[in-house]
Amino acid sequence: KNASYDVVVIGAGGAGFSAAIEAKNAGATVVLLEKMPQVGGNSLISGAEMNVARNWVQPKLGITDDSPELHAKDTYLGGDKKGDMKVINVMTHNALAGAEWCRDYLGVRFEPDNLFFFGGHSRKRALIPVGHTGTEFITKFLAKADELGIPVITNMKAEELLKDKTGRVVGVKATMNGTEYTFNAKGGVVLAAGGFGANPAMVKKYNPKIDERFKTTDAPGTTGEVLYMAQRAGAELVNMQYIQTYPICDPISGVIELIADARFDGAIMLNQEGKRFVEELGRRDVLSEAILDQTGGYCWVLWNDKIGAVSNTVKEHPTEYDAFTKQGIMTTCPDLKCIADFTKIPYDSLKGTVDRVTSMAGKGNDKDFHHRAGLVDMSQGQYYVIKAVPSVHHTMGGVRINEKAQALTADGKVIPGLWAAGEVTGVTHGTNRLGGNAYTDIIVFGRIAGKAAAEAAK
Ligand code: ADP
Repeated sequence: KNASYDVVVIGAGGAGFSAAIEAKNAGATVVLLEKMPQVGGNSLISGAEMNVARNWVQPKLGITDDSPELHAKDTYLGGDKKGDMKVINVMTHNALAGAEWCRDYLGVRFEPDNLFFFGGHSRKRALIPVGHTGTEFITKFLAKADELGIPVITNMKAEELLKDKTGRVVGVKATMNGTEYTFNAKGGVVLAAGGFGANPAMVKKYNPKIDERFKTTDAPGTTGEVLYMAQRAGAELVNMQYIQTYPICDPISGVIELIADARFDGAIMLNQEGKRFVEELGRRDVLSEAILDQTGGYCWVLWNDKIGAVSNTVKEHPTEYDAFTKQGIMTTCPDLKCIADFTKIPYDSLKGTVDRVTSMAGKGNDKDFHHRAGLVDMSQGQYYVIKAVPSVHHTMGGVRINEKAQALTADGKVIPGLWAAGEVTGVTHGTNRLGGNAYTDIIVFGRIAGKAAAEAAK
């Protein structure tokens, strides 16, 4: 079974779709291979916020001093300077064009006057897709691929990269239900297969501290074999030990609690003793470590209607709300007495903490943990509370790429015919990916890789 295209893209998440669509629009014939029965990967189940400095919503919120340079600096420092600043700058400087492409060309709808303020960012800059999940993107990606006539082959697992005598990557060996297929690629192959967060053995191999205790937030296809495939083709894998846990996840299934994103608008994190223990808008790695240090290794996220009116998460995620309530990890209460009964947090301590938070409401007033956006008056209910634990979320490491999304060898040489974009790459986020940067990364580098691979076929 043999087929030939100009460009072969491995993985139908956000990076893969961006690459395939741009390759097609650059005049190439292209095929998108996805090993799972359905497309979307982590991009689908993500909250899908996308950081863009100088985006069209910022002026409405009075934010006029953001810049791609500042976004790059936040990203670099947020990753403890382990990212590649040249690559990061490409991401932040192409973010706005990427978001406009999503909005105007794909038809992705964003909330018109609201942004997310993720930990580690110095400005509020994350665009929010309607529905607050990747569904909005993936639906539009699929529709566009369909419109352009790009074949998206599901249940097709890439197994090996094929090289010619000169060392150029010229195709992919893949399997479907045990049958072998060869996809020849005249221009080249784009790796867009995501990370390895759903492969516990691989996670533990690269970071032994993240062992069997951890569940994962990731889509089941996030198993990393494409990284080894790239390595066998000569690519260098870098930063593999940096594995991010997301701090606020379901203790039972491991999935992210998007409903607890009320945290970005003032929800507080409490331990079983009813005390705050960390700045709620701190970096994910900091929050995760802090939670694991608390009694039982979990925390409670608490907010009220005043916060809920801004974040709107209970209304945006009704299925989550029902599921978490049924599981017994979430509830809604008119008062703190009822919250104390549900969580078994001592009432006096809970009341004391909430009163203190209310007394320190407003930007710059949090003497305890210096909440960067400012605490909120929590004196009035309705209250919402959910139990949360950290869970494996994003693997920062992967294929070393350059500014043109070309895969590199350990001695810095370009591997001809091989591009990579998205979570499969390893030089953007350093030790720690900041919230909202994954979508920026996949859109920007997916587009670059797809275009370049198409050009190479000419
Ligand atoms: P990104 O955010 O970087 O786009 P995603 O996780 O959204 O990454 O998408 C990666 C996709 O690649 C997933 O749908 C996953 O199932 C798919 N994938 C992973 N490994 C393979 C493989 N060996 N062959 C084909 N598809 C793969």
